[in-house]
Amino acid sequence: MQRESLLNVGEIGSLRWTSQQTGNMTGRIDYEVQHDSVCFKYNVRSNSNEALRPYEYFVPVTHTPCNYGGSRAWFECPHYLKRVAVLYIDERIACRTCHKFNYIKGTWQERDRMYKVREKLGWPLLKDVYVWQRIKPKGMH
Ligand SMILES: [Zn+2]
Repeated sequence: MQRESLLNVGEIGSLRWTSQQTGNMTGRIDYEVQHDSVCFKYNVRSNSNEALRPYEYFVPVTHTPCNYGGSRAWFECPHYLKRVAVLYIDERIACRTCHKFNYIKGTWQERDRMYKVREKLGWPLLKDVYVWQRIKPKGMH
């Protein structure tokens, strides 16, 4: 988000993931950047028999100064308030560590293991293509 300059206060939009194979949208998260946090809104279900449920999380954002000027933004994991660059999202938002230690279903471990095996075999990783869409905040022209 920082690379695409999406962390400016007042920024509203959505991040979308598309399957490389089918071209279908596989994921979407709406975001709204506030003064010192980002509000993420999305729908998710724990299995395909369930209805999608809406989730809304405020994730704190902190900044550290860079050597060459400017600053670097970090998310704070909502569970440990640890500074992280990457968050993982399903029914909750957490850093990799929290997902690994606390996540009952083990989805992330399974997927990581699958990726490692595919890498060893030299098979391509079936990663989704990520795009973002910026939406103008209400009242802006
Ligand atoms: Zn964490």
